[in-house]
Amino acid sequence: SVYGDYIKSVIRTVRNWPEPGVNFRDITPLLQNSAAFRKLIDSFVHRYQELEIDAIAAIDARGFIIGAPLAYELGCSFVPVRKKGKLPFKTISETYKLEYGESTVELHSDAFRPKDRILIVDDLIATGGTMLAAAKLIERSGGLVVETAGIIDLPELGGSKRIREAGHSVFAVCS
Ligand code: IMP
Repeated sequence: SVYGDYIKSVIRTVRNWPEPGVNFRDITPLLQNSAAFRKLIDSFVHRYQELEIDAIAAIDARGFIIGAPLAYELGCSFVPVRKKGKLPFKTISETYKLEYGESTVELHSDAFRPKDRILIVDDLIATGGTMLAAAKLIERSGGLVVETAGIIDLPELGGSKRIREAGHSVFAVCS
């Protein structure tokens, strides 16, 4: 993306958080900077405005921050993909492996119509497990995954490669 280097410059790396050896990519400086946040949303709007997206499936919780303004700008639905136990109505769920343990994401069973064109958004792609679980939920409910999009890809963790090998397109503003 044309703004990739700029967006990267306003993301902070917090060393050894949440545990020793982990470098956490923190988007809060980006969100505090109104010009940067606008450029971020604009780069997604520019990429997706002609692609006839029916719904943004945004991943709990930082995916919501970009998913909501994007759905507003594109004039499409906003659908939350949430961590287990947060959605009140009938849900479908996918459990996936983490480095230690596992995690479950859920989607409302009436989130969209069969054949709807869905864009999945999150802040960051690491191992790709979260994006892949979300993509499975969407396909199980009959949606078409147009692309999986993040602000940041960490290519050394192999997630974007894994997602592409599963047959999905991947976009990240920066890596
Ligand atoms: P994955 O499933 O391994 O690709 O991890 C991606 C998920 O973990 C996303 O929902 C991210 O919000 C979160 N995540 C992992 N590492 C980071 C990080 O360094 N910064 C922000 N979020 C992260």
